[in-house]
Amino acid sequence: MDQFGFPLVSKETSSIIKDVKYNPNSVRSRRALGLVKTSYRGRIPKKWFWLVEEPYKVSSKCCDKLKKQPFKDYEKKNEVSPILGIMAEESMMRTTDYLNRGGCNVFSHTKRDRSTSHPISIWLEKDIWECIEKYNIPISDIYKKGATRTGCMFCGYGCQFKDDNRLQLVYDLYPKWYNHFMNYTNNGVTYREALRKVLAVNGLYLPDEKP
Ligand code: SF4
Repeated sequence: MDQFGFPLVSKETSSIIKDVKYNPNSVRSRRALGLVKTSYRGRIPKKWFWLVEEPYKVSSKCCDKLKKQPFKDYEKKNEVSPILGIMAEESMMRTTDYLNRGGCNVFSHTKRDRSTSHPISIWLEKDIWECIEKYNIPISDIYKKGATRTGCMFCGYGCQFKDDNRLQLVYDLYPKWYNHFMNYTNNGVTYREALRKVLAVNGLYLPDEKP
């Protein structure tokens, strides 16, 4: 958070906000700003444009550092390919990626590609719950406490939706952790201050600041 910035709104939005902020003349940034005509999906939604002007960094770099890179290093070291539980229904980005992949398995043709398998690409979330029930598969307790998805407990992606309960859940179950990550800073601004503004866009409040 301190070095690379806050993960806010969504992976795609925070990634393009970072580009526009620090490399405004790149093709990607000009597309994001609507200066280059394209059907490319990576334009910054109008309601989040103000994040470009904020004094703190916004980026999706945490995902590279905490998740993607360690997995890639592991794959390289052990000469294995990953099986990923990504589903097309999760987001527009994942639907498009699925269509571009053209199926569940991708086989690398060059050294730069990697082979990947996505066996539940076409599953819906309800299929997962049915499968868990049918085969009595043990799951993490956090789902029984009200979580619908997991990731880092402090992840800001999607917390701006009215039906998202992750911040409330962490506040109720792990208040020490909640207070800990709310005090993370970037460029002198706390994560609390940044999240507060993001939530306010949809008329929402942090769990401990509700009027
Ligand atoms: S789940 Fe964690 S690593 Fe991934 S984007 Fe959210 S905060 Fe970053």
